[in-house]
Amino acid sequence: MQAKIARVQLDIDYLCPNCYLHFRLTNAEIPRGEYLNQNCPACAEPLDISPISFEVKSTVPLEQTKDDEDSLRAIKALQSQGYSKKEAQTRVRAIRKDDADVSELIREAITYEQPT
Ligand SMILES: [Zn+2]
Repeated sequence: MQAKIARVQLDIDYLCPNCYLHFRLTNAEIPRGEYLNQNCPACAEPLDISPISFEVKSTVPLEQTKDDEDSLRAIKALQSQGYSKKEAQTRVRAIRKDDADVSELIREAITYEQPT
């Protein structure tokens, strides 16, 4: 079974860059959607406190193999050319077309220019 989150306890310590005071915001005080404007409790310097967010990751493995037979063959072929598995997958998935046969996939995957 997967545990459900029942309650989140959160403290964040902030540092005033003006007087170096540490001050703490707890739970609902911590901004979530928008910047919070608050004066430093010690020196009264106006401070912008950036919102934070959390992403709860599911436990499902991220690596979902949805490659079909042809893609898998092309990936294997690229690996035999010296590409890492991840690199081969990235390339083949990027250029995958339904009407391409395996040799086309391999050719296009090898010449594929990755966006940087
Ligand atoms: Zn301060």
